[in-house]
Amino acid sequence: MAEVSLDGVSKAFGTQNAVSAVSFDVAPGHLVALLGPSGCGKSTTLRLIAGLESTTGGAIRIGGRDVTHAAPAERGVSMVFQSYALFPHLTVAQNILFGLEVRKVPKAERAKRLEKAAGILGLSQLLDRKPSQLSGGQQQRVALGRAIVAETPVCLMDEPLSNLDAQLRLEMRREIRGLQRRLGVTMIYVTHDQVEAMTMADRVVLMRAGHVEQHGTPEELYNRPATIFTARFVGTPPMNVVPATAFGARVAARAPAGRDPASLSLGVRPEHLRLADDGIHATVTSVEYLGADSLVEARIADQPLIVRVPGKIGLGEGQTIGLEWDSDHEHFFDTATGKRL
Ligand code: ATP
Repeated sequence: MAEVSLDGVSKAFGTQNAVSAVSFDVAPGHLVALLGPSGCGKSTTLRLIAGLESTTGGAIRIGGRDVTHAAPAERGVSMVFQSYALFPHLTVAQNILFGLEVRKVPKAERAKRLEKAAGILGLSQLLDRKPSQLSGGQQQRVALGRAIVAETPVCLMDEPLSNLDAQLRLEMRREIRGLQRRLGVTMIYVTHDQVEAMTMADRVVLMRAGHVEQHGTPEELYNRPATIFTARFVGTPPMNVVPATAFGARVAARAPAGRDPASLSLGVRPEHLRLADDGIHATVTSVEYLGADSLVEARIADQPLIVRVPGKIGLGEGQTIGLEWDSDHEHFFDTATGKRL
Protein backbone atom coordinates (compact mmCIF):
# COMPACT_ATOMS: atom_id res chain seq x y z
CA MET A 1 0.00 0.00 0.00
CA ALA A 2 1.19 3.50 -0.82
CA GLU A 3 2.27 5.63 2.12
CA VAL A 4 1.10 8.79 0.35
CA SER A 5 -1.50 8.77 -2.38
CA LEU A 6 -2.92 11.66 -4.38
CA ASP A 7 -6.02 10.99 -6.41
CA GLY A 8 -7.15 13.72 -8.80
CA VAL A 9 -6.02 16.50 -6.46
CA SER A 10 -6.78 20.04 -7.62
CA LYS A 11 -6.31 23.52 -6.24
CA ALA A 12 -7.61 26.76 -7.70
CA PHE A 13 -6.70 30.22 -6.47
CA GLY A 14 -9.61 32.31 -7.72
CA THR A 15 -9.89 31.46 -11.41
CA GLN A 16 -6.34 30.11 -11.66
CA ASN A 17 -5.77 26.35 -11.49
CA ALA A 18 -2.45 26.01 -9.67
CA VAL A 19 -2.84 22.21 -9.46
CA SER A 20 -5.07 20.25 -11.87
CA ALA A 21 -6.13 16.64 -11.22
CA VAL A 22 -2.76 15.48 -9.94
CA SER A 23 -2.49 11.77 -9.12
CA PHE A 24 0.52 9.82 -7.92
CA ASP A 25 1.48 7.29 -5.23
CA VAL A 26 4.56 7.24 -3.05
CA ALA A 27 5.61 3.84 -1.68
CA PRO A 28 6.65 3.61 1.99
CA GLY A 29 10.32 4.50 2.47
CA HIS A 30 10.66 5.97 -1.02
CA LEU A 31 11.98 9.38 -1.92
CA VAL A 32 9.89 11.04 -4.62
CA ALA A 33 11.00 14.31 -6.21
CA LEU A 34 8.38 16.79 -7.38
CA LEU A 35 10.22 18.42 -10.25
CA GLY A 36 9.27 21.20 -12.64
CA PRO A 37 9.83 24.79 -13.72
CA SER A 38 8.89 27.79 -11.60
CA GLY A 39 5.14 28.18 -11.17
CA CYS A 40 4.20 24.62 -12.24
CA GLY A 41 2.50 23.89 -8.90
CA LYS A 42 5.14 21.88 -7.00
CA SER A 43 4.98 23.89 -3.76
CA THR A 44 1.21 24.06 -3.84
CA THR A 45 1.04 20.25 -4.23
CA LEU A 46 3.36 19.83 -1.24
CA ARG A 47 1.35 22.31 0.84
CA LEU A 48 -1.84 20.41 -0.02
CA ILE A 49 -0.25 17.18 1.26
CA ALA A 50 0.85 18.98 4.44
CA GLY A 51 -2.61 20.46 4.90
CA LEU A 52 -1.34 24.05 4.70
CA GLU A 53 -3.72 24.60 1.78
CA SER A 54 -7.15 23.04 1.29
CA THR A 55 -7.94 21.11 -1.90
CA THR A 56 -10.64 22.19 -4.33
CA GLY A 57 -10.96 18.60 -5.61
CA GLY A 58 -9.65 15.06 -5.23
CA ALA A 59 -8.42 13.03 -2.26
CA ILE A 60 -5.18 12.69 -0.29
CA ARG A 61 -4.35 9.55 1.69
CA ILE A 62 -1.44 9.11 4.08
CA GLY A 63 -0.74 5.66 5.56
CA GLY A 64 -4.02 4.45 4.06
CA ARG A 65 -6.06 7.10 5.88
CA ASP A 66 -8.03 9.79 4.04
CA VAL A 67 -6.54 13.07 5.31
CA THR A 68 -8.03 15.34 2.62
CA HIS A 69 -9.79 17.42 5.27
CA ALA A 70 -7.56 16.66 8.29
CA ALA A 71 -5.65 19.39 10.14
CA PRO A 72 -1.88 19.55 9.44
CA ALA A 73 -0.95 18.18 12.89
CA GLU A 74 -3.17 15.13 12.36
CA ARG A 75 -1.49 14.03 9.12
CA GLY A 76 1.73 12.50 10.48
CA VAL A 77 3.97 14.67 8.29
CA SER A 78 6.89 16.98 9.03
CA MET A 79 7.93 19.72 6.67
CA VAL A 80 11.23 21.48 5.92
CA PHE A 81 10.91 24.83 4.18
CA GLN A 82 13.28 26.64 1.84
CA SER A 83 13.50 29.48 4.37
CA TYR A 84 14.17 26.94 7.23
CA ALA A 85 11.53 28.87 9.29
CA LEU A 86 13.83 29.08 12.34
CA PHE A 87 12.93 31.36 15.25
CA PRO A 88 15.77 33.90 15.66
CA HIS A 89 15.24 34.38 19.41
CA LEU A 90 15.33 30.65 20.23
CA THR A 91 18.45 28.50 20.57
CA VAL A 92 19.26 25.59 18.27
CA ALA A 93 17.90 23.14 20.86
CA GLN A 94 14.70 25.14 21.33
CA ASN A 95 14.24 25.45 17.59
CA ILE A 96 14.65 21.71 17.08
CA LEU A 97 12.27 20.88 19.90
CA PHE A 98 9.67 23.54 19.15
CA GLY A 99 7.12 21.21 17.53
CA LEU A 100 7.46 18.59 20.28
CA GLU A 101 6.76 21.15 23.02
CA VAL A 102 3.65 22.28 21.19
CA ARG A 103 2.56 18.64 20.98
CA LYS A 104 3.25 18.14 24.72
CA VAL A 105 5.77 15.33 24.26
CA PRO A 106 7.18 14.50 27.76
CA LYS A 107 10.44 16.22 28.69
CA ALA A 108 12.58 13.06 29.00
CA GLU A 109 11.43 11.90 25.57
CA ARG A 110 12.24 15.32 24.11
CA ALA A 111 15.77 15.20 25.53
CA LYS A 112 16.30 11.72 24.11
CA ARG A 113 15.18 12.71 20.62
CA LEU A 114 17.22 15.93 20.70
CA GLU A 115 20.38 14.04 21.60
CA LYS A 116 19.83 11.53 18.81
CA ALA A 117 19.05 14.15 16.14
CA ALA A 118 21.92 16.43 17.18
CA GLY A 119 24.28 13.43 17.03
CA ILE A 120 23.11 12.44 13.55
CA LEU A 121 23.42 16.00 12.25
CA GLY A 122 26.65 17.00 14.02
CA LEU A 123 24.93 19.77 15.98
CA SER A 124 25.76 18.57 19.52
CA GLN A 125 28.27 21.40 20.13
CA LEU A 126 25.94 24.10 18.79
CA LEU A 127 22.76 23.52 20.76
CA ASP A 128 22.97 26.77 22.77
CA ARG A 129 23.61 29.04 19.79
CA LYS A 130 21.08 31.28 18.11
CA PRO A 131 20.37 30.84 14.35
CA SER A 132 22.25 34.09 13.57
CA GLN A 133 25.42 32.47 14.96
CA LEU A 134 25.24 29.58 12.48
CA SER A 135 26.37 29.12 8.87
CA GLY A 136 23.76 28.49 6.18
CA GLY A 137 24.53 24.78 6.19
CA GLN A 138 24.18 24.59 9.97
CA GLN A 139 20.84 26.42 9.86
CA GLN A 140 19.72 23.91 7.27
CA ARG A 141 20.68 21.08 9.63
CA VAL A 142 18.61 22.64 12.41
CA ALA A 143 15.60 22.64 10.10
CA LEU A 144 16.32 18.96 9.33
CA GLY A 145 16.67 18.30 13.07
CA ARG A 146 13.17 19.55 13.61
CA ALA A 147 11.88 17.08 11.03
CA ILE A 148 13.91 14.21 12.53
CA VAL A 149 12.68 14.67 16.12
CA ALA A 150 9.07 14.75 14.89
CA GLU A 151 9.55 11.04 14.00
CA THR A 152 6.73 11.20 11.49
CA PRO A 153 6.54 8.50 8.82
CA VAL A 154 6.41 11.16 6.08
CA CYS A 155 8.72 14.12 5.56
CA LEU A 156 7.99 16.90 3.06
CA MET A 157 10.79 19.15 1.79
CA ASP A 158 10.33 22.34 -0.22
CA GLU A 159 13.57 23.27 -2.01
CA PRO A 160 15.56 22.80 1.23
CA LEU A 161 18.94 23.41 -0.41
CA SER A 162 18.26 26.47 -2.52
CA ASN A 163 19.92 28.91 -0.10
CA LEU A 164 23.21 27.00 -0.06
CA ASP A 165 26.23 27.36 -2.34
CA ALA A 166 26.93 24.71 -5.00
CA GLN A 167 29.49 22.72 -2.97
CA LEU A 168 27.33 22.57 0.14
CA ARG A 169 24.27 21.65 -1.91
CA LEU A 170 26.13 18.62 -3.20
CA GLU A 171 27.12 17.54 0.32
CA MET A 172 23.66 18.11 1.79
CA ARG A 173 22.03 16.29 -1.11
CA ARG A 174 23.96 13.16 -0.14
CA GLU A 175 23.32 13.76 3.53
CA ILE A 176 19.56 14.11 3.14
CA ARG A 177 19.41 11.02 0.95
CA GLY A 178 21.48 9.04 3.47
CA LEU A 179 19.33 10.26 6.33
CA GLN A 180 16.12 9.41 4.51
CA ARG A 181 17.35 5.85 3.88
CA ARG A 182 18.69 5.38 7.39
CA LEU A 183 15.51 6.59 9.07
CA GLY A 184 13.30 4.75 6.56
CA VAL A 185 11.15 7.84 6.23
CA THR A 186 8.93 8.44 3.18
CA MET A 187 10.01 11.69 1.58
CA ILE A 188 8.49 14.05 -0.97
CA TYR A 189 11.08 16.53 -2.12
CA VAL A 190 10.27 19.63 -4.19
CA THR A 191 12.96 20.95 -6.51
CA HIS A 192 13.30 22.76 -9.84
CA ASP A 193 16.80 21.30 -10.21
CA GLN A 194 16.68 18.21 -12.41
CA VAL A 195 20.12 17.03 -11.29
CA GLU A 196 18.96 17.09 -7.68
CA ALA A 197 15.81 15.15 -8.60
CA MET A 198 17.65 12.61 -10.76
CA THR A 199 20.40 11.92 -8.22
CA MET A 200 18.25 11.74 -5.08
CA ALA A 201 14.90 10.29 -6.04
CA ASP A 202 13.59 6.74 -6.38
CA ARG A 203 10.90 8.19 -8.62
CA VAL A 204 10.36 11.60 -10.17
CA VAL A 205 7.02 13.34 -10.68
CA LEU A 206 7.65 15.94 -13.37
CA MET A 207 5.03 18.70 -13.29
CA ARG A 208 4.12 21.26 -15.92
CA ALA A 209 1.44 23.97 -15.68
CA GLY A 210 -0.33 22.29 -12.75
CA HIS A 211 -0.46 18.74 -14.11
CA VAL A 212 1.76 15.66 -14.02
CA GLU A 213 3.72 15.51 -17.27
CA GLN A 214 5.49 12.20 -16.46
CA HIS A 215 5.96 9.99 -13.41
CA GLY A 216 8.71 7.39 -13.37
CA THR A 217 12.18 6.40 -12.24
CA PRO A 218 15.03 8.77 -13.16
CA GLU A 219 16.11 6.20 -15.79
CA GLU A 220 12.64 6.10 -17.35
CA LEU A 221 12.50 9.88 -17.67
CA TYR A 222 15.97 9.98 -19.18
CA ASN A 223 15.67 6.95 -21.49
CA ARG A 224 12.01 7.12 -22.50
CA PRO A 225 10.72 10.67 -22.15
CA ALA A 226 6.97 10.61 -22.85
CA THR A 227 6.92 14.13 -24.29
CA ILE A 228 9.18 16.74 -25.84
CA PHE A 229 8.82 18.74 -22.62
CA THR A 230 10.26 15.89 -20.51
CA ALA A 231 12.95 15.21 -23.11
CA ARG A 232 14.17 18.78 -22.82
CA PHE A 233 13.72 19.18 -19.06
CA VAL A 234 15.73 16.12 -18.02
CA GLY A 235 19.43 15.98 -18.95
CA THR A 236 22.11 18.67 -19.40
CA PRO A 237 22.57 20.05 -21.93
CA PRO A 238 18.99 19.24 -22.94
CA MET A 239 18.10 16.73 -25.64
CA ASN A 240 18.32 18.06 -29.20
CA VAL A 241 14.78 17.97 -30.61
CA VAL A 242 14.51 19.08 -34.23
CA PRO A 243 12.15 18.51 -37.18
CA ALA A 244 12.87 14.99 -38.45
CA THR A 245 13.11 16.27 -42.02
CA ALA A 246 16.19 18.32 -41.14
CA PHE A 247 18.17 15.09 -41.17
CA GLY A 248 17.14 14.17 -44.72
CA ALA A 249 16.13 10.87 -46.25
CA ARG A 250 18.34 8.70 -44.06
CA VAL A 251 16.33 9.53 -40.95
CA ALA A 252 12.97 9.85 -42.69
CA ALA A 253 13.34 6.17 -43.63
CA ARG A 254 13.57 5.25 -39.94
CA ALA A 255 10.45 7.20 -38.92
CA PRO A 256 7.63 5.11 -37.41
CA ALA A 257 5.64 3.33 -40.10
CA GLY A 258 2.70 5.21 -41.54
CA ARG A 259 3.84 8.59 -40.25
CA ASP A 260 4.66 11.53 -42.48
CA PRO A 261 8.20 12.56 -41.45
CA ALA A 262 7.12 16.20 -41.85
CA SER A 263 4.85 15.81 -38.78
CA LEU A 264 7.61 14.39 -36.59
CA SER A 265 10.40 15.68 -34.38
CA LEU A 266 13.52 13.68 -33.74
CA GLY A 267 15.32 13.82 -30.40
CA VAL A 268 18.93 12.77 -29.76
CA ARG A 269 20.88 13.65 -26.63
CA PRO A 270 24.17 15.56 -27.01
CA GLU A 271 26.02 12.65 -25.37
CA HIS A 272 24.59 10.18 -27.91
CA LEU A 273 25.83 12.03 -31.00
CA ARG A 274 29.22 11.00 -32.41
CA LEU A 275 31.54 12.58 -34.93
CA ALA A 276 31.89 10.35 -38.01
CA ASP A 277 33.27 11.22 -41.42
CA ASP A 278 30.42 9.56 -43.26
CA GLY A 279 27.74 10.90 -40.89
CA ILE A 280 25.10 13.55 -41.63
CA HIS A 281 26.80 16.86 -42.40
CA ALA A 282 26.58 19.73 -39.93
CA THR A 283 28.33 23.10 -39.66
CA VAL A 284 30.09 24.03 -36.43
CA THR A 285 28.97 27.35 -34.92
CA SER A 286 30.94 27.25 -31.65
CA VAL A 287 32.91 24.98 -29.33
CA GLU A 288 32.88 25.12 -25.54
CA TYR A 289 35.68 23.29 -23.72
CA LEU A 290 34.62 21.99 -20.28
CA GLY A 291 37.63 19.87 -19.25
CA ALA A 292 36.40 16.29 -19.34
CA ASP A 293 34.53 17.02 -22.56
CA SER A 294 33.60 19.69 -25.07
CA LEU A 295 30.23 20.92 -26.27
CA VAL A 296 30.16 21.49 -30.01
CA GLU A 297 27.31 23.65 -31.26
CA ALA A 298 26.44 22.94 -34.87
CA ARG A 299 23.66 23.42 -37.40
CA ILE A 300 21.94 20.90 -39.63
CA ALA A 301 19.62 22.52 -42.21
CA ASP A 302 19.51 25.64 -40.01
CA GLN A 303 18.53 23.62 -36.92
CA PRO A 304 20.88 24.12 -33.95
CA LEU A 305 22.24 21.01 -32.20
CA ILE A 306 24.67 20.34 -29.37
CA VAL A 307 27.16 17.47 -29.50
CA ARG A 308 29.10 16.35 -26.43
CA VAL A 309 32.51 14.95 -27.35
CA PRO A 310 35.18 13.66 -24.95
CA GLY A 311 38.16 15.85 -24.12
CA LYS A 312 39.35 18.81 -26.15
CA ILE A 313 38.53 18.97 -29.83
CA GLY A 314 40.31 20.90 -32.57
CA LEU A 315 37.27 22.29 -34.32
CA GLY A 316 36.41 25.88 -35.24
CA GLU A 317 33.46 27.90 -36.41
CA GLY A 318 32.38 27.18 -39.98
CA GLN A 319 33.95 23.72 -40.18
CA THR A 320 31.90 20.82 -41.50
CA ILE A 321 31.50 17.72 -39.37
CA GLY A 322 29.65 14.45 -39.84
CA LEU A 323 27.28 13.21 -37.14
CA GLU A 324 25.89 9.77 -36.35
CA TRP A 325 24.10 8.01 -33.50
CA ASP A 326 22.70 4.59 -32.65
CA SER A 327 19.06 4.17 -33.57
CA ASP A 328 18.20 2.99 -30.05
CA HIS A 329 19.21 6.45 -28.86
CA GLU A 330 16.78 8.29 -31.12
CA HIS A 331 13.37 9.44 -29.99
CA PHE A 332 10.50 10.29 -32.32
CA PHE A 333 7.78 12.69 -31.18
CA ASP A 334 4.61 13.99 -32.79
CA THR A 335 5.50 17.65 -33.27
CA ALA A 336 1.90 18.86 -32.90
CA THR A 337 1.07 17.03 -29.64
CA GLY A 338 4.62 16.76 -28.27
CA LYS A 339 3.96 13.08 -27.48
CA ARG A 340 6.40 10.24 -27.95
CA LEU A 341 5.65 7.76 -30.73
P1 ATP B 1 8.34 27.90 -7.61
O1 ATP B 1 9.39 26.90 -7.91
O2 ATP B 1 8.55 29.20 -8.33
O3 ATP B 1 8.04 28.06 -6.17
P2 ATP B 1 6.07 26.13 -7.92
O4 ATP B 1 6.16 25.12 -8.98
O5 ATP B 1 6.32 25.70 -6.54
O6 ATP B 1 6.98 27.36 -8.30
P3 ATP B 1 3.59 27.11 -6.92
O7 ATP B 1 4.22 27.98 -5.90
O8 ATP B 1 2.92 25.89 -6.46
O9 ATP B 1 4.62 26.76 -8.06
O10 ATP B 1 2.55 28.00 -7.73
C1 ATP B 1 1.71 27.47 -8.76
C2 ATP B 1 0.84 28.60 -9.30
O11 ATP B 1 -0.11 29.00 -8.32
C3 ATP B 1 1.63 29.85 -9.65
O12 ATP B 1 1.11 30.39 -10.82
C4 ATP B 1 1.40 30.76 -8.47
O13 ATP B 1 1.43 32.10 -8.88
C5 ATP B 1 0.01 30.37 -8.01
N1 ATP B 1 -0.14 30.53 -6.56
C6 ATP B 1 0.55 29.90 -5.59
N2 ATP B 1 0.13 30.26 -4.36
C7 ATP B 1 -0.86 31.16 -4.56
C8 ATP B 1 -1.71 31.93 -3.69
N3 ATP B 1 -1.63 31.81 -2.35
N4 ATP B 1 -2.60 32.77 -4.25
C9 ATP B 1 -2.72 32.86 -5.60
N5 ATP B 1 -1.96 32.17 -6.46
C10 ATP B 1 -1.04 31.34 -5.98
